[in-house]
Amino acid sequence: MSEETFLDWPVYELGRAEKRRRLEAELSALTAHHAAHCEPYARVLAAHGVDAQAAFTLETVPWLPVRLFKHRLLASVPPEQQFKLLTSSGTTGQTPSRIVLDKTTAARQTTALARIMQRFVGRARLPMLILDHAGVIKDRRSFSARGAGILGLANLGREHVYALREDMSLDTEAVQAFCARHAGQPKLLFGFTFMVWQHFVLALEKSGQAVDLSGALLIHSGGWKKLTDIAVDNEQFKARVRAVAGADVRVHNFYGMVEQVGSVFVECEHGHLHAPAFADVLVRSPDDWRVLPHGEAGVVQVLSCLPASYPGHSLLTEDLGTVLGEDDCPCGRMGRHFKIHGRVPQAELRGCSDTQQNGSPP
Ligand SMILES: [Zn+2]
Repeated sequence: MSEETFLDWPVYELGRAEKRRRLEAELSALTAHHAAHCEPYARVLAAHGVDAQAAFTLETVPWLPVRLFKHRLLASVPPEQQFKLLTSSGTTGQTPSRIVLDKTTAARQTTALARIMQRFVGRARLPMLILDHAGVIKDRRSFSARGAGILGLANLGREHVYALREDMSLDTEAVQAFCARHAGQPKLLFGFTFMVWQHFVLALEKSGQAVDLSGALLIHSGGWKKLTDIAVDNEQFKARVRAVAGADVRVHNFYGMVEQVGSVFVECEHGHLHAPAFADVLVRSPDDWRVLPHGEAGVVQVLSCLPASYPGHSLLTEDLGTVLGEDDCPCGRMGRHFKIHGRVPQAELRGCSDTQQNGSPP
């Protein structure tokens, strides 16, 4: 495997044929690597009659259901090389995923995230307001997804200020001081979608205050489930952020998961999520798992070159989405672009996990 080179691929400029050629080589090599170093993964492939040494296409790379990482600790590196454990910030009653990182994979995640985000933020480090509290990054050996996300993004900023106190109340003084210090200049805002909504937008609306964050770019992530529950869509989210923070604030959501940190799909100016060069997305039918044509909604599969320390390079998610096209988004970025509609209904998931618990189809 040509170590690390995929991180140098132009993030949004590879045409589909070239991207496919490169990705298929990397993903096939990763499949062989994980089969050789993660015994449970090799057993899953063998049970399905999959030859780990095969040259796979994007469509035939074997996948694991993402929920497997809730039940099993899957590692492709020996214990002495495991230097970080990522856990999903488990909502009450849910088992968190546990992801084993070695130094190589952790470094890849950091670089990949920076490569992608620089395309939206620019190369200069901007003053950064983090819409969370400082406590979430305290334990540096065992991160929650929230902590990992904040630390990853914090690399792109400078003069970091946390907007929330430990009790999740908005530290208006700190925010106002940040606004005054960087008035009219480009700045970076980051937070998890629901935190931004609940503890920034609603908090400001409730207090009748507004802040002047003109020139800011807000990047947010973390799922829409809680927001769809209270009927807030992406457009309304953006409008209400701009109403309390400044009419010219740019807002970009991104789709990503703790099982593939660094491999993020950022929303463009047209509201489409984009696959970077070293990752891709497929949509499968929940009936027979065939890859659906563009325009049809189904279960989202994510592919990524980053995971070396655990077999997470091809995962079937529990999200519903639609691929909108490839190399043809009006924003000019190449690669597949797509939308996420929400979670697969729980009932379907149970059926899905019964049949898919042991991995990919033959
Ligand atoms: Zn686009």
